[in-house]
Amino acid sequence: MPDREQGLLVVISGPSGVGKTTIVHRIKDAFNAVFSVSATTRPQCSSEEDGKDYFFITPEAFEAKVQLHEFLEHAEVFGCHRYGTLKDPVTTVLSSGNIILLDIDVQGGMQVRDNMPESVRIFILPPSEEELIRRLESRGREDEDSIQRRFREAKSEIKLAQESGAYEYFITNDNLELAIAETEAIIQNARSNTTSAS
Ligand code: ADP
Ligand code: 5GP
Repeated sequence: MPDREQGLLVVISGPSGVGKTTIVHRIKDAFNAVFSVSATTRPQCSSEEDGKDYFFITPEAFEAKVQLHEFLEHAEVFGCHRYGTLKDPVTTVLSSGNIILLDIDVQGGMQVRDNMPESVRIFILPPSEEELIRRLESRGREDEDSIQRRFREAKSEIKLAQESGAYEYFITNDNLELAIAETEAIIQNARSNTTSAS
């Protein structure tokens, strides 16, 4: 028997509004996992907390971190704002044997696949286009223009995810409880494999 379990990095990607945040929070509770707080240059929404949802930083501060190689991955999302996963917290969680959850876009998923192929990468799909729009609206975060822009981005993001080969698993989030159960089973299985391989 191994002394302790290995850490595991889990990437959860999918279009805006598909249910990533909802699923990630449930997975976090189920596995006592850690959510990776990304740095971003996008403006903070009123419902968000700095340091909990994101580290909201200036474009200059973000670029300085890029130059210092502080990111495991980073990308410009929707062609306007930068988002990145900081290496340090990821390393700390993995070396403590815990699970770290990354809610990142497909460009980030591709970089993680290249840099950490031992990670688990899951892409969440919407049950239909109509339902995706309904969920984007139900978040109540953005105006109609932003919702339409995110919807257009969703289509190209799904295509890129399918063509990139960066994701081993695709889960359709129709019934939330079923989607969570599928995600949990994938993580449980990966965890058993890393533990028995150590
Ligand atoms: P994302 O993080 O991918 O942008 P959220 O987790 O914020 O998405 O979910 C967007 C909205 O959809 C939220 O209002 C959430 O409660 C709702 N939602 C998530 N999953 C489902 C589901 N399976 N069925 C119905 N509504 C859902
Ligand atoms: P939002 O602005 O809705 O919070 O996030 C927009 C998109 O940015 C989502 O697809 C989310 O997964 C992605 N994202 C959030 N953090 C990161 C990150 O650190 N790296 C990358 N590549 N994408 C991120």
